[in-house]
Amino acid sequence: MLANESEFRVKVAVRVRPFLQREKNHEQKSCIAIHPQTNQIVLGERRTFKYDFVFGPKTLQEELYRTSVEPMLNNVFDGYNVTIFAYGQTGSGKTYTMTGGNILSIGEKDYGIVPRAVKTIFDTVHNRHDCQVTISASYLEIYKDDIIDLLDVNDKDLDVRDDAAGNTVVVGASEHRCHSIDDVVSLLKKGSNVRHTGATQMNDESSRSHAIFTLYIEQRVRDKNSNANLVQASFDGLVKPIQSTFDESFLSAKLHFVDLAGSERVARTQNTGERFQESIRINSGLLALGNVVSALSDPKKRTGGHIPYRDSKITRLLKDSLGGNAKTLMITCVSPCTADLDESLNALKYAHRASQIRNKPIKNVDPNAQRFIEMQSEITHLREELERQRTILSRDGQSSNSRRSTGLNGVDHSRRLIQTAFVCFQQLNDCEDLGDEQKQWIQTWMDAVSNENSEDICNDILTSRVTNLESALHSAKDELRSESQMRVKREMILDRLQEQLKTKEDELNRVRMAMDESNYPTTTTKKSLPDRTKSAPHFGGVQRKEQSIQPRTIHSSPAVFGMDYVVERFHGRSLALAHSQEEIEELDLRNSDEKQNDEKKFFRRGTYRLRKNRLTPSILQQDDALQSLTESTINKQKLIEEVARKVKEAESKAQDLSINIQLKEQLIKSVYASTKDVKETNEQYEQHIKTLEKEVDKAKQEYHDLQKNMQQIATKNTSEKSKLEGEYRKKCEMAKARLESLQQKEKQYRDLMNKLSGNSEKRYVHSLNVLVKSEISMELH
Ligand code: ADP
Ligand code: MG
Repeated sequence: MLANESEFRVKVAVRVRPFLQREKNHEQKSCIAIHPQTNQIVLGERRTFKYDFVFGPKTLQEELYRTSVEPMLNNVFDGYNVTIFAYGQTGSGKTYTMTGGNILSIGEKDYGIVPRAVKTIFDTVHNRHDCQVTISASYLEIYKDDIIDLLDVNDKDLDVRDDAAGNTVVVGASEHRCHSIDDVVSLLKKGSNVRHTGATQMNDESSRSHAIFTLYIEQRVRDKNSNANLVQASFDGLVKPIQSTFDESFLSAKLHFVDLAGSERVARTQNTGERFQESIRINSGLLALGNVVSALSDPKKRTGGHIPYRDSKITRLLKDSLGGNAKTLMITCVSPCTADLDESLNALKYAHRASQIRNKPIKNVDPNAQRFIEMQSEITHLREELERQRTILSRDGQSSNSRRSTGLNGVDHSRRLIQTAFVCFQQLNDCEDLGDEQKQWIQTWMDAVSNENSEDICNDILTSRVTNLESALHSAKDELRSESQMRVKREMILDRLQEQLKTKEDELNRVRMAMDESNYPTTTTKKSLPDRTKSAPHFGGVQRKEQSIQPRTIHSSPAVFGMDYVVERFHGRSLALAHSQEEIEELDLRNSDEKQNDEKKFFRRGTYRLRKNRLTPSILQQDDALQSLTESTINKQKLIEEVARKVKEAESKAQDLSINIQLKEQLIKSVYASTKDVKETNEQYEQHIKTLEKEVDKAKQEYHDLQKNMQQIATKNTSEKSKLEGEYRKKCEMAKARLESLQQKEKQYRDLMNKLSGNSEKRYVHSLNVLVKSEISMELH
């Protein structure tokens, strides 16, 4: 028997890291107490948790490895998949635990789990002479929900599938043969070089992606002592008889090391821009993982309930590690600081849930091949039984020997005839119409035949059982093959639909993120509110300009609203409208998600029906399955079209909103521009008027001086008097004319100025009207 049906509970270790230098500088207090003897951990004053392993701040890398990881590795050589993954808040020590820090610069003492496990595996391989082992490796990262091959960098986003044996397979991931520890370490270094990392407030070198390093170990085990008549099974589903003198079996296993990106609160990391986008993707992946862990830890959901593996790439990739066929160890890393208490509590709860998950590990042989082997061994057993019976017969009865020697074919034929007659007589004997004599005669004949042929009949029964079993075996094999083909086809269709849905979701996310970006600053922290309003692209320029403009001094009547007030109200209303639009979209999406879940249920029921009737397949049932598949595909397509239509609507509404905002912006700008122009012209006019007023005063003074002079002349003698008088009168008239023209000019300027400020006031009021009207129409819309 190759399969092991027993369950394996996911093992959980918790590691509390020491205080970092910067935490010591800030005199941070510890909120965690550890009890290694009982594997308990106490958070704060009251919360106590118990795990499989608990490690304190002083635990060395070597000790953690020997206690929790090394025992898991034996499973790999028994043909079981093993996954070791680190979970925890950013900066809690995941990367330190998995690799020991930056693999490019660490010393041997600090080596984490991965390099140590690689060493153990190669040591084991060198010491084993009973098998031939091949080791290869792949290194992937999930960055913003795209799977990237770190050892073959290109722009491809790889896809995840499940194979017939329930293994998760990343299609297109490169696998590299490793002959030594150095080969593996150089692959680790190569991948780490291109992995996405970056500095955040919480960690100077924070991993911005989930990293998955996998070792594939294949062994051809040679066992001289086994006498079993075995066949060799391989992953291509073919089963070949063994030709060699040794009995040989093929085992393979995957050893996953997963360093998850840390959960993080944007408020604490203070991430913006690209880091902010990364945070959103990291947190949504971890949320999906949390949902999977919760569903698996709930006994009701675990048995037959829906496990949301398809919600993110990381959950799809860890499908066989959580609730699947692997043996899994989760290492939860926590910080000891009181400031991180909330995050630590979450991580510990998460770890507790994970420890309730039960996997069903199976050795890695193809299930079809395994079933084939079981049937083969039953046939062998029956053949042996048949042979035994024949030997007994040949020993006991000469007659049967002589019958056989006269020609087996003829004997077989007459034996079959007798058997048919036997069955007919048996039925006739039960018939009530027969007379007693006839019944007696039949009974005598049947007794004679039974005595004569009991061994032969027994043999025949055995032979026909063998034949039946053989044909059942072949038809079961065919059935399995066609079923697995159908399953692959269905998987492909489902994947295609999922991809289409994902593209639409991405588009929607993009639109939503664009809106988020404009929404986020006004909704996150109160402190940053004034800054962010200023930095908002639509109104920043206007506001700065506004600050340099002094309060209006030239309008004839006071404004009803200040410009500040109008701009702020308008901005606030635009955001509120965008927000309500977003809520409508979210509601729509939720509805469509529910519909999709209904679809999934339907699809699952379909699959079950098909399976239940597996032993008596017929074209009709396949038609049913196909029809339900087609129906569900059509429904899904409708759903996708519906989502696409809603995305388009949301996009066009978002576009309308942004055009509207731009228009308003231009309007406000033009109001400001014209206000500024008017003010400048008015200032010039005022300057002119002041100059004119001065000139008028000067001219008045001159006129008065001239009149004074004329009065003085009146006292002088007549000849001189008349001459001077004529001269002064002329001057007086000229001065008077100039005074009059200056007064005229001043009046003109004043009129002009009044007219201009009146116009500007009207235009200002008109613009306000336009703004208010457009707001009203937007709300109605
Ligand atoms: P994560 O991967 O969870 O974001 P890291 O592994 O990068 O966090 O750890 C953050 C910092 O804490 C690093 O400087 C690391 O060296 C240090 N650190 C974490 N765990 C330990 C430990 N057990 N002993 C010593 N230093 C540690
Ligand atoms: Mg890390």
